[in-house]
Amino acid sequence: MRVVLLGPPGSGKGTQAQKLGRSLGLPHVGMGDMLREAVKNRTPLGERAKEFMNSGKLVPDSIILELLGERMEGAKEGFILDGFPRSLEQVKRLEALLEREREKLDAVINLKVREETILRRIPGRLVCSECGQVYQRASPSSSTQRCPSCDAPLFSRADDVSDTLEKRIETYLEHTCPLIDYYEKKGILRDISGEGNPKEVFDRIVKALN
Ligand code: AMP
Repeated sequence: MRVVLLGPPGSGKGTQAQKLGRSLGLPHVGMGDMLREAVKNRTPLGERAKEFMNSGKLVPDSIILELLGERMEGAKEGFILDGFPRSLEQVKRLEALLEREREKLDAVINLKVREETILRRIPGRLVCSECGQVYQRASPSSSTQRCPSCDAPLFSRADDVSDTLEKRIETYLEHTCPLIDYYEKKGILRDISGEGNPKEVFDRIVKALN
C-alpha cells in the first residue's frame, strides 16, 4: 500500500503516519523527521535546510529529493509518506518516482483540523529525540520529561514558536492546499477529521482505507 498524509501543522500527520506504518508493517517516511535528524547530526544537507525550517518556509527541492531518494530505496513494497509532497512540483516528482516502478498511490489522507486546534496543540508539543513520537506537555514548565517508550529526552521543536508557526500555516495554505484539489480530482483523496485523540483519528483513517 502507498499512502500519503496531508494536513496543516499540528493536524497529527506524523503521529498517524507512525501508527499506520506500524499497523500495516510499512515504512513510515517522515520528511520533517528526516530533516530534523539531518539538522541534529549537522550533516551538510541539514545545515542547508535549517534556516528554511526555522523560518517556516519550504526547504528547497534539491535537499528534499536527495533525502527522499535514499529513504525510498527501502520502501519499494509500500510506504506511509508524511510531509511529502508539499507542493505541486513535488507531486510531479513523486509521480515520476512511482512511474519508474510502475506503481501509483493508493490513497491520500487529508487530515482536517480547526485553526483553534492547531493553536492549542502546537505550543504544548514535545517530541522524543530518539523515536520521534509526539506528546503533549503535561505542564507548561516541565521541559525535561522523557519518552515513556524509549526513555530518551523530549524536546520542543525549534519551529513550534508562534512567529514560525504563523509562517508555516501560510506556507501550507499557499503551497500545499492546492494538492487537496489535485488528489480529489484523481479520486484518491480521503477527507478525515483530525479532531479528537490519536486513537479516534486512527480508527477513522483505518475505516477510510478499508
Ligand atoms: P513537519 O515536521 O512536516 O512539520 O516539517 C517541518 C519543516 O520541514 C517544514 O516546516 C519545512 O520547513 C520542512 N519540510 C518538511 N517537509 C518538506 C517538504 N516536502 N518540502 C519542503 N520542506 C519540507
